[in-house]
Amino acid sequence: MSDKNHLRSILSKIDGRGYKAYKDIEGNYQFKDFNLKIDRVAGDPFASPSKLRILISKDIAGFPSNLCQSKIRAIALRDYLTRQFDRTVKQFSCHRGTGKSGSIAIATTKQEVIERSSVYINDRDLEVRFLVGLPARGRTILGFQAIAMLCEDLPKIVENSLKYDSLNAAEIQRHVETVEDADWLRQQLKTRDLVAFVANGAILPRRSGIDDRPLLDDATVFRSPPSLEIEFDLPNSGSIKGMGIKQGITLIVGGGYHGKSTLLRSLELGIYDRIPDDGREFVVTDPAAVKIRAEDGRAVTGVNISPFINKLPQNRSTVNFATANASGSTSQAANIIEAIEIGAKLLLIDEDTAATNFMVRDRRMQRLIAKDKEPITPFIDRVKQLHRDLGISTILVIGSIGDYFDVADTVIAMENFLPRDVTEEAKKIADSYPSDRQFEASKNFGTITPRIPLNSSIDPSRGRKAVNLKVRGVDEISFGSFKIDLSSVGQIVDSGQLETIAAAIIYAKVNYIDDRRSLRAVLDLITEDVASGGLDVLSQYPRGDLVAFRHFELAAALNRLRSFSTLTKK
Ligand code: ADP
Ligand code: MG
Repeated sequence: MSDKNHLRSILSKIDGRGYKAYKDIEGNYQFKDFNLKIDRVAGDPFASPSKLRILISKDIAGFPSNLCQSKIRAIALRDYLTRQFDRTVKQFSCHRGTGKSGSIAIATTKQEVIERSSVYINDRDLEVRFLVGLPARGRTILGFQAIAMLCEDLPKIVENSLKYDSLNAAEIQRHVETVEDADWLRQQLKTRDLVAFVANGAILPRRSGIDDRPLLDDATVFRSPPSLEIEFDLPNSGSIKGMGIKQGITLIVGGGYHGKSTLLRSLELGIYDRIPDDGREFVVTDPAAVKIRAEDGRAVTGVNISPFINKLPQNRSTVNFATANASGSTSQAANIIEAIEIGAKLLLIDEDTAATNFMVRDRRMQRLIAKDKEPITPFIDRVKQLHRDLGISTILVIGSIGDYFDVADTVIAMENFLPRDVTEEAKKIADSYPSDRQFEASKNFGTITPRIPLNSSIDPSRGRKAVNLKVRGVDEISFGSFKIDLSSVGQIVDSGQLETIAAAIIYAKVNYIDDRRSLRAVLDLITEDVASGGLDVLSQYPRGDLVAFRHFELAAALNRLRSFSTLTKK
């Protein structure tokens, strides 16, 4: 292995030469305290930047072992170090020439603490993966600028972001303990027959539609209604009280602009841990919670939506329903069945984004349009069966359909952003003002038909490119010659998750999709591989941009790939 001086001498030698000569620095360099790996050098200063890694031994980094003694603690510490590295490189990153010259960057983070491939900790080392724009003017190498970056700035960056002694120990401790507590809390839900918990003192509203940080001055702080209040004893933070949402069917009602959707959104994202002071760090939801909405225009492949939709015009099958352009109600039905197919335990629905005709048919409409002229069995007639037959709970934001009082176990009213338990009141009203609806569903929910994905229907190639992948924000994956629209899949929070899901689709195709295994079996195998081998199993080379994802969102991407095709088991 060569050392820092060797790197310095190559850089001064290639100064003034064409950008391609930067290839000469690929390799390993031993610095005083760490090892620098230059894995892949960019082709020019405008291309995606060069990929570098720093490996520092745990002894030198000096983090107490209790900070990473469990998987969740290690994830939290790795997240903290990603953030600290980011804060530090921002002070050093600057323009040193053309294009990306001079930039230093690590994966960006938001409010969620999710496992990432940007920082790893193993028995021996701590490893950080980041991107560097090697300096050039036009395509001419600025070797001495590169020396300043790599040989002078990098050691300072390591000093200020990866050494325990120069960091804020109390802040790290709090980060790790908060995440550990939230994770523990989420695991307790089941043992208390809950699907979600919202801590007293939580701040749910966000600063704006594009700023996920907590609203500061004007936020009404959450407080549970006394009848729904429960207490936990957190491993680190001690006693905590808040609103428990029981399994079964829960309505969130209330006037417009009183905080219903904000509460539901917090529950959707309660599958993730958050950084301290996020405001929602102790708002947790069943990890198998899936947001459901109408999504007209999406493609649907071979889904048995017959529990909700039957006898379409032109005799179209709904047992094996396929369309390139679903309606509001058929898309919502497909979203539900697809979620159930792979093990959803909690559905989250906001009336704002649901198809009205999917949610209910009131008695007047039932009289005017006879049941045999209406393909839809509305959700209101299936929601109890979902719980009774399949153990799936539902939380619904309902502002206008009082008929739902009949099927609710709990009714929470949001009033001026505060919850009130109105279950008794709603039940009394339901008794005094019967909806007079006819129940329209069959006696049981029915079975879910497992689908078998076909290998040939998943093709990442485009033209002469064997693999064509590109991710746009959290909304879209270009996969082969198709665009997968994920803008309606609300529980994806990081574009790195889409990068990882794209990689996982290819991994699934190569390893597991064999025209025999069910979709669920394929997803389970991937989940196991990632759990045992880490996110790196999905990539041939070390990547710093991978982010953990749930199999629900991976399936959501496959289900929206317009070439996707399936068989159903006989
Ligand atoms: P609804 O779904 O009941 O119509 P929203 O949840 O969309 O209402 O909330 C309406 C507005 O109030 C949003 O701008 C939201 O950010 C804000 N808001 C929600 N909860 C709170 C709160 N606890 N404190 C202050 N503002 C809030
Ligand atoms: Mg709303």
